Amino acid sequence: MEAEVLVIGAGPAGATVADRLARAGHDVLVVEEHPRVGYPVQCAGLVSARVLELAQSRAMVRTPVHGATVFSPGLRGVAFRAPDPRAYVIDRAGLDIALAERAARAGARFETGLRFDGASRRADGSFAARLTAADGGERTISARLLVGADGVTSAVARALRLRRPVEILPAFEAEFPRSPGDPDRVEVYLGRRIAPGLFGWWIPDGAGGARVGVAVSAGPVSARAYFERLLVHLERRFGTVLTGATAYLVSGIPIGLVPRTAGDGALLVGDAAAQVKPLSGGGIFTGMRCAEIAAEVAHAALAAGDLSARRLGEYDERWRAELGDEFSRALYLRRVLLRLSDDDLERVIAALDGAGMRETIVAFGDIDFPSHLARRLFRQSPSLVRLFPKALGALRSSRAGRVPDVEPARSRAAK
Ligand SMILES: Cc1cc2nc3c(=O)[nH]c(=O)nc-3n(C[C@H](O)[C@H](O)[C@H](O)COP(=O)(O)OP(=O)(O)OC[C@H]3O[C@@H](n4cnc5c(N)ncnc54)[C@H](O)[C@@H]3O)c2cc1C
Repeated sequence: MEAEVLVIGAGPAGATVADRLARAGHDVLVVEEHPRVGYPVQCAGLVSARVLELAQSRAMVRTPVHGATVFSPGLRGVAFRAPDPRAYVIDRAGLDIALAERAARAGARFETGLRFDGASRRADGSFAARLTAADGGERTISARLLVGADGVTSAVARALRLRRPVEILPAFEAEFPRSPGDPDRVEVYLGRRIAPGLFGWWIPDGAGGARVGVAVSAGPVSARAYFERLLVHLERRFGTVLTGATAYLVSGIPIGLVPRTAGDGALLVGDAAAQVKPLSGGGIFTGMRCAEIAAEVAHAALAAGDLSARRLGEYDERWRAELGDEFSRALYLRRVLLRLSDDDLERVIAALDGAGMRETIVAFGDIDFPSHLARRLFRQSPSLVRLFPKALGALRSSRAGRVPDVEPARSRAAK
């Protein structure tokens, strides 16, 4: 079997790159290891309007949300509400299916139940990809360009030695068909006991239930154990126990900047390239946007007959020029946040509750570019500056692609 472009993985990044390349007239084959596109769902499904624009559809929206409440480890909450929707809770499987259908309408072929195992390069520069079907049968597919859109564990990245390991945050989520809580607001739970390394979340599902989960730094305690602690926390918050979970999700979130996302005849997009927002773990918008850039660069490279790493490296440069600065600042902030004790986090929440802070958060909050808001909050709040003296200076001086050092010993001593 042959294809001009072979895309591994039918998630949002793979379907977007396939759609754009098929529209540009290329012969594209997408292979997906699971029997059905979109399943199993491995996501909380909270996205910005940018994702709906990239998908050119709102059909998968379950409910808009207008705000958030962020809880300290001691359950002090600071709540924000904007007049306009700030994010959308979506049917995540519905998004993947809609994107795949759109790509198929543009001419991309899809084969499900086919797992990519590895690839070798032929003398003419094309790839021979080795795959295994659901019945155990082995297949070889030839392609001029190989796109790894195969998520956090990316077999393509491993096969091509394109990605150094990044930090992978274990995540655990459950869906509850009924839950108390404000259906118009998401909730974020901070604290080393609840979710060291990222946070816990409660997200209304638009039908009276909620998606509840945690993502944490890898360590001796499992994400599931932290999830159980979050449930105890939620019992205190709601005064009732959440029961009857209908679905569980176990996965990982890649955090960090990988050195290269393009090689000879190959590109990585989405989670496979760790194109994930470091402060939230969200990767749908960033993965889809980078997939668009990947398709533009691939189209020009295919037309020029030059699929060298040098030519395809333009993709690497372009997506970093667009998102690299935000990723670098967010990575830096994340490293600063990781150093905070639960007492420090109480002080952060108290500072966010301070005069004028809510207004700033409502005016400048953007789930895709949170570092812009962080900069403003630092400028506005002397108590935040006291908590993060070094962060402020580093953020002021940071440039695209540069992640300032945290200097652990001195920053803790400064408190
Ligand atoms: C618990 C959790 C909650 C999240 N919540 C959000 C959120 O609210 N908002 C947000 O923006 N992001 C969220 N994310 C992140 C988001 O899910 C990912 O960033 C996004 O799915 C990445 O899209 P992708 O297309 O790169 O990869 P994926 O969606 O992971 O798709 C990769 C596809 O490749 C397939 N595949 C893998 N290996 C192979 C192989 N060897 N051969 C063939 N096919 C293969 C997989 O089956 C899969 O279908 C969350 C992640 C987790 C774990």
